[in-house]
Amino acid sequence: MGINSNDFHDPKIARHLVQRISSACRKPVRFMEVCGTHTVSIFRSGIRSLLPETISLLSGPGCPVCVTAQGEIDAFIALARQPDTIVATFGDLIRVPGSGSSLQREKAEGADVRIVYSTFDAVNLARQNPDKRVVFLGVGFETTAPTVAAAILAAHQEGLNNFFVMSAHKTVPPALEALAAGELNIDGFLLPGHVSVIIGVEAYRPFFDAHRVPCVVAGFEPSDLLQSIAMLTDQVASGRPALENAYPRAVSDAGNPKAVAVMNEVFAVADADWRGLGTISASGLEIRETYAAFDAVRAFDIRVAAKPEPKGCACGEILTGVKIPPQCPLYKTVCNPMAPVGPCMVSSEGTCAAYYRYHGEE
Ligand code: SF4
Repeated sequence: MGINSNDFHDPKIARHLVQRISSACRKPVRFMEVCGTHTVSIFRSGIRSLLPETISLLSGPGCPVCVTAQGEIDAFIALARQPDTIVATFGDLIRVPGSGSSLQREKAEGADVRIVYSTFDAVNLARQNPDKRVVFLGVGFETTAPTVAAAILAAHQEGLNNFFVMSAHKTVPPALEALAAGELNIDGFLLPGHVSVIIGVEAYRPFFDAHRVPCVVAGFEPSDLLQSIAMLTDQVASGRPALENAYPRAVSDAGNPKAVAVMNEVFAVADADWRGLGTISASGLEIRETYAAFDAVRAFDIRVAAKPEPKGCACGEILTGVKIPPQCPLYKTVCNPMAPVGPCMVSSEGTCAAYYRYHGEE
């Protein structure tokens, strides 16, 4: 059954999909969504309560702020302490606790930290403040990296010499490899919609061919998600794993080659540290030598060291599906959205914040 744009919230369609899932899913299975927006959509729509008990939905490392390593957060804070420097960042990051401070605290103590809504806002800040160095904190997956690359190209073309990016970007397929190599047996992956718009379905082919685990690219509406879960359960029930696309209105096999080309022009693949997953080979994006003048790591001689997570915080286990937020002893007792201990409670896409907001399972 296909879904068209009028069907996203149609209860009849949803009921039909739930019935299909329930009758196909006879044994316990664990599916993981690898996208923070999926996590929020699943909670907001109440999909968990509609599914049979045999299906466990786990949230994976799909929230870019949450997977940013503690050492990277500390490096951002070190940048905010540099003289004559403006740090420009998307909003969520500002409240993430580092080892001894946060960008919010640095701002309160006088650092010039500004929230921007696009990388080009940061380029504008550099234009408007020629006597300052403006550093944009590049956090995100393949969805974000092309726009950051485009901003660097624009700054390069314009000859701006006071705009920098600290790239902490990460890429999704290597994280899937790391999850599949772990001990948590996952029966199927809901693949991220927005990332897939850029990289395309075929970007997951090497992962799928290597592991033969059911994979479905999912959209964000309730019926999109139910349809994707139904496709995963069908694959499990039939014993025929496949790489399928349940979001064809936005995602193609090839993705967006222009965006990928811009990303590849500016960034080279590099190893990256992930909260919860550790260092994953070839899972990050560093600024190429050609654009080294825009690289904050080189310009400010910033070191990114491995750092432990905040004491007692289980974000690492939450991000890999090993635990759910109520299994963290700090959940709701010490850690809440007003006083977050870890990034999973800060970010609007964080699993702990989603549990807290939508009263997830206790
Ligand atoms: Fe970390 Fe708070 Fe989530 Fe526990 S509830 S894992 S302390 S963010």
